[in-house]
Amino acid sequence: MNQIADLSTLASLDAIDRAHLIHPVSPWRTHEERGPTVLSSGRGAWLTDARGHELLDAFAGLWCVNVGYGQESVVQAAAEQMRRLPYATGYFHFSSEPAIRLAEKLVQITPRSLNHVYLTLGGSDSVDAAVRFIVQYYNNTGRPSKKHFIALERGYHGSSSTGAGLTALPAFHRGFDLPLATQHYIPSPNPYRHPAGADAQALIAASVADLRAKVAELGADNVAAFFCEPIQGSGGVIVPPAGWLKAMREAARELDILFVVDEVITGFGRTGPMFACDAEGVEPDIMTMAKGLTAGYAPMGATLLSDKVYAGIADGAPRGAPIGHGATYSAHPVSAAVALEVLRLYEEGGILANGQRGAAHFAAGLDMLRGHPLVGDARHRGLLGALELVSDKATRRGFDPALGLADRIFAAGYRNGLVFRSFGDHILGFAPALVFSETEFTLLFERLRKTLDEVLDWPDVRKSLAA
Ligand code: PLP
Repeated sequence: MNQIADLSTLASLDAIDRAHLIHPVSPWRTHEERGPTVLSSGRGAWLTDARGHELLDAFAGLWCVNVGYGQESVVQAAAEQMRRLPYATGYFHFSSEPAIRLAEKLVQITPRSLNHVYLTLGGSDSVDAAVRFIVQYYNNTGRPSKKHFIALERGYHGSSSTGAGLTALPAFHRGFDLPLATQHYIPSPNPYRHPAGADAQALIAASVADLRAKVAELGADNVAAFFCEPIQGSGGVIVPPAGWLKAMREAARELDILFVVDEVITGFGRTGPMFACDAEGVEPDIMTMAKGLTAGYAPMGATLLSDKVYAGIADGAPRGAPIGHGATYSAHPVSAAVALEVLRLYEEGGILANGQRGAAHFAAGLDMLRGHPLVGDARHRGLLGALELVSDKATRRGFDPALGLADRIFAAGYRNGLVFRSFGDHILGFAPALVFSETEFTLLFERLRKTLDEVLDWPDVRKSLAA
């Protein structure tokens, strides 16, 4: 192992982090006790931490570094743009070439319905913009009562003040006075947990019925939009049956509510095609994206609007009056230059195709682990997948949260040189970069099996398993 930082530097970084740096979505006091894991460099699918420990990153950072670490052409694109023009506002009708070219490119590669691009600071900002645009759309088109939003249980739509309410995970509501009275949920289309079970048609029909029932309950004149992820990521990589997204799209059209697809995780080849919508020919009214757009090399997201939504806002606002949504760093030229190069790598650089080839190895590795005594469910699409661990395969019972399995399994994986993510107490999530080689998939599953075998040997886990 190559020690990257000397021990006294590490100790000082550790102390400063505990004292001063607030970490996203982490228990603050626990972090002070535990301290940070400082990462220092990355190359391809690999990370090195500050102690020199090498890790195979099976989570692409936070499902974002789809092109892998160390892509020199992306670094150059950023440096060139910084040198030429590091900043250009989009206010007052100013623009920049990278932002213009990126808007054109996004219109080309997204579903046909989407023609107008608002470039944001990341996923939460994209969702927040979508919500604000929807409110403005209905106010401007003479239907101001349409203010209620429907999303999925276990959905994640970021942590802006409104997005965190569309998110349906307890930690994002607790203590934040969410959800708002205008935010509602229908059950998650989870083949492993939904009462309709693994029967695809029954599950799709149940979801459509749930949406209809919720709209009827709230009154169609009061419902603005249905928000969903094509595959629910942070809720535990919940993969609905093929055809689900299309059916929900059709239902939203019939119900006269806007259909918003949040492709922040599923975009940019993560599930196989460029966007998950493409697999089913779905044309949403609004699409949100981020992560793979810049592959984590710079912060940026986007909210794309259909002509109908765009025109409703543009033509309903008083002529010449500002439409008051935007930020200093919207359409940031350096992030846009990064995104353009990342998009070139997906297509001309062959990374999208490599990810599509890798999906078969990924699927095979996860499916093989179905037989492991701890694994209740293995699910995947493209390079997005999860294992759900259970203490009883017959009843699908999870583990007692008191065991604190999530953090312990993550730590065991880390010791074995593997980074993935745990959700709740018993779901392990995987989102390898699209550059993973066959050898790296083999290593991933060797290290994962070793980790699961170790977990199986822990006395408290053994004790919880069904006889
Ligand atoms: N929407 C989805 C589906 C996400 O998975 C995320 C983040 O994981 C977000 C929105 C928020 O994105 P960000 O963390 O870039 O603000």
